[in-house]
Parts: sequence; structure tokens; C-alpha cells
Amino acid sequence: MARQLGNARLEVIVADITTLRVDAIVNAANSSLLGGGGVDGAIHRAAGSELLAECRTLQGCATGGAKIIRGYRLPARRVIHAVGPVWHGGGRGEDGLLASCYRRALELCQTNGLVSLAFPAISTGVYRFPTDRAAGISVRTVAEGLSHAPIVSQVIFCCFSDASARLHEQALAGLGGPCVD
Ligand code: ADP
Repeated sequence: MARQLGNARLEVIVADITTLRVDAIVNAANSSLLGGGGVDGAIHRAAGSELLAECRTLQGCATGGAKIIRGYRLPARRVIHAVGPVWHGGGRGEDGLLASCYRRALELCQTNGLVSLAFPAISTGVYRFPTDRAAGISVRTVAEGLSHAPIVSQVIFCCFSDASARLHEQALAGLGGPCVD
């Protein structure tokens, strides 16, 4: 499913994000930026050990923040490491921290001249963020953030299950705007 929002096409797919040929894929990293399980592990494996070597130079990243590096052996040119919050029940600023990841990733696209990017469902794996709530935050934050990142013309919500894709499609439908093929 895809929707046009101003200059940008927003789409929901089910795929392994490491296979996508876009300007940047976002990693759901932890604050060490030195690798982990889930999508993080998959990205490190697919990109090769040079990615880890560059990660070691970054000295970690705060929760809600994002840092950009090269894509090495990935089809994607760049990897944006975003550090989502661990879900503790919602009273520790989790919503705002998750939104910040999506905003910061878009800002990095704007400053680095990147037009296409793909997000995984940050924090919805081992960090246990409720999946429906996270889908709504991701789609709304990207829709709002695009006005500050006009260079971005394609945003892919790269889900890893049909259930996750349905939640993102519902959130996308809630935005309005024309549906496109
Ligand atoms: P977090 O620690 O932020 O929760 P996870 O990697 O555990 O990160 O999970 C984040 C999301 O990424 C989950 O929805 C998970 O199903 C999904 N995921 C795991 N592997 C991949 C992959 N190769 N491509 C896209 N999404 C993935």
C-alpha cells in the first residue's frame, strides 16, 4: 500500500530491510551502536565487518538519537542507526523518544542529500513497544517531519510481519491524501 503526501511517496511493505536498494536504511540500534539481535544483527551480518569498525568510531548514541554511516556491502548506500526507547509502560517519555528517532532520521536524510529511506518498526521487538502505538507514532511523525526534509521523496515502512504491515497501513490510511499504485 502506498500514499502520496506532498512530494513524498509513503509505502508499507513486508520485507527484510537489508535487501532494500534505497539511499538509507534505518537500524533499530541499541545505544552502544555495536550490534545486537533482531534487525540490528541482520544489518551487521549483511553489511560486513567494516560496518562494525565504523560503528566503533561513533562512541554510541543517546536514546531518541540517530547517527549515519556508510552501507558497505548492503544495497543501501547508508545506514542510519536510531536508538529507540525500551518500553517501560509509557510513563518514561517513550512516545517522544520513539518519535525523535523518526524525526532525526529524516533530518539526517535532508543534511546528507538522501531522497529514499526505509524504516523498520523501531522498538517493537525486544524493546517491547506496543506495536499499534508504535505504528501510529512512526507514520504520524514521518508525515509531520517531511515538511522539514523536503528532499525526501520516498519513505518505506519495512515491516517484518503481515500483522505489523496492517497496523502501518491503518495508520497511513488515517493520514488521508491520495492512494497511489
Ligand atoms: P528493538 O530492539 O528496537 O525492539 P528489534 O530488532 O528487536 O529492535 O525489532 C524491531 C523490529 O524489526 C521488529 O518489528 C522486528 O520484527 C523487525 N525486524 C527484525 N529483523 C528485521 C529485518 N531483517 N528487516 C526488517 N525488520 C526486521
